[in-house]
Amino acid sequence: MRLRLPEERPTEPPTGYKIAHPMLSQDGTRAGFTGVSLGGALPYGVLADASCVYGLRHRAPSRRCDCGFHCVHDRTTAEALLCTAEHRAAVLLEVTVLGRYIRFERGFRYARQRVRTATVGACACGTVAAALADAGWGRSGWRALAPSCAGCLHGRTSVSLAGFARLAGERLRVVAGRGASVAMAGLGPADDLGVPELAAEAALLQARLDWFQAQLARLGERGPGEGGRRG
Ligand SMILES: [Zn+2]
Ligand SMILES: [Zn+2]
Repeated sequence: MRLRLPEERPTEPPTGYKIAHPMLSQDGTRAGFTGVSLGGALPYGVLADASCVYGLRHRAPSRRCDCGFHCVHDRTTAEALLCTAEHRAAVLLEVTVLGRYIRFERGFRYARQRVRTATVGACACGTVAAALADAGWGRSGWRALAPSCAGCLHGRTSVSLAGFARLAGERLRVVAGRGASVAMAGLGPADDLGVPELAAEAALLQARLDWFQAQLARLGERGPGEGGRRG
């Protein structure tokens, strides 16, 4: 005879919080996240099933293993993790805990996850982020992204917050947070976008145009015949 823990049957799936690095596929067509510790090698999509990170043949989570998705109950507990130097560029995720889960004092370990909202911190320069740009590291086939303002892009591979949400799919919301100025970038047709989203997109376009014109000017300095006069 086995003793069993009482099983919870919540009417609504629980909500949790965690931090992760936003990732963009090499071809730029898919967006996802990768964990900051256990399982960090495997990028996951907005809606994803956990598998054992040790390759063991059991369903995750298993009581005898520490695999499965992890999250904490409190937003502030997850936010605190963003203070450490190596997590500064990570984003805060609000997730819905789906499937089987194991409840702990501080959070859950569970089988299936839907990321509902990603809150993106400020650019390294302190300005509210308008985009997620190449962070300079990644996994095989995936580039890690970090928050960037329009002025700090400098021609790096990047996606706007709305663009990241669109690539990630599943109605993910991507929010630029920090302080009083909060801009929200959602998914969907342009008529759903408000002034903050459009202003962020405009700032991005302007930065891209500035960079583009600087490159053109540089080519132009090399003299005619090098493409300086071509539109
Ligand atoms: Zn396992
Ligand atoms: Zn910046």
